[in-house]
Amino acid sequence: MTEPFKALQVIEADGKFVISVVDKLIDNLPPGDVTIKVHYSSLNYKDALSATGNKGVTRQYPHTPGIDAAGEVISSTDENWKPGDQVIVTGFDLGMNTSGGFQEYIRVPAKWIVRLPQGLSLLESMIYGTAGFTAALSVQALLKTGVQPADGKIVVTGASGGVGSIAVAILSKLGYKVTAVSNKQAEFLQSLGAVEVLPRAQMDDASGKVLLKPEFAGGIDTVGGNVLATVVKSLQYGAAVTACGMVNGGPLPLTVFPFILKGVQLLGIDSVAYPISKRKAVWEAMATTWKPAQLTQLANEIPLEKLEESIHQILAGKVQGRTVVRLA
Ligand code: NDP
Repeated sequence: MTEPFKALQVIEADGKFVISVVDKLIDNLPPGDVTIKVHYSSLNYKDALSATGNKGVTRQYPHTPGIDAAGEVISSTDENWKPGDQVIVTGFDLGMNTSGGFQEYIRVPAKWIVRLPQGLSLLESMIYGTAGFTAALSVQALLKTGVQPADGKIVVTGASGGVGSIAVAILSKLGYKVTAVSNKQAEFLQSLGAVEVLPRAQMDDASGKVLLKPEFAGGIDTVGGNVLATVVKSLQYGAAVTACGMVNGGPLPLTVFPFILKGVQLLGIDSVAYPISKRKAVWEAMATTWKPAQLTQLANEIPLEKLEESIHQILAGKVQGRTVVRLA
């Protein structure tokens, strides 16, 4: 393929990071086993960090962010992938220090690729994207603890965000009663199945107490910081909460008492390096029994040209649900 294609590009100039849509050639892509025509990508919080110069995410610019991509294989040097295969790539190094999904073509190692499962379209796979995959990993970790719907309410923090909204929808579909913690309008979360919506301030304890009233049978936290600490202190005896994010802060103001007096568990979730051998089963669940009826309602579909605006919105905590980037 010799024709130019469209890509979002971030350049560093005088300490500032400038975003624009540029033309690229296939030869500009990094070496790799499989070249993919990207149909959809999606916006995650980490993409916004990469697009605005966070060197913890992306070390070198010019760079094309985008930790997610779904599309069709164009060519492959790996025997497992053939032209026409419909595939998903999320995580690993895509969009971090490898040219990412915010462009019409990507080239990646074969070992980063998952086949699009039956029951999911390319668009739906990117409505999920890394956020949905992380929500699914969080649900999976919680279910492994044995918590049942009858045990009580499951709290989800950052509930209107990408990970949070999909976690609310999956848990509700599985019959759990969900308490959503959000500073946004309750209607959206109720439409995803939340039975209760609490303002963030109510899960941001400032009392200094080491334990709080045991309210929740489990939790999916997407924000970290004092909000996660409040959840840990509010768990029932033996309950667990997952942790995947840090928009509320990295430090965790906690004591050991919830762990040693109530046997609660804090379960870490990482979607980036999650083994490829285990990804298929998670995507299969996301395509079938866990797939929320409201999945398409979660998506706001935009072209590449509108992405810069959404990047600033997600950094300001203003995005609701998932932003899908249409590339084909
Ligand atoms: P979003 O920006 O879509 O959602 C985050 C939500 O958190 C916001 O919508 C808002 O929801 C809430 N929020 C925003 N600012 C604050 C704040 N200061 N304190 C508390 N809550 C806040 O992000 P994602 O859902 O895509 O990601 C959530 C987190 O998970 C990020 O930190 C991200 O980096 C991390 N992540 C980690 C992964 C992993 O593999 N470990 C993978 C994917 C994401 P509301 O208004 O409803 O409260």
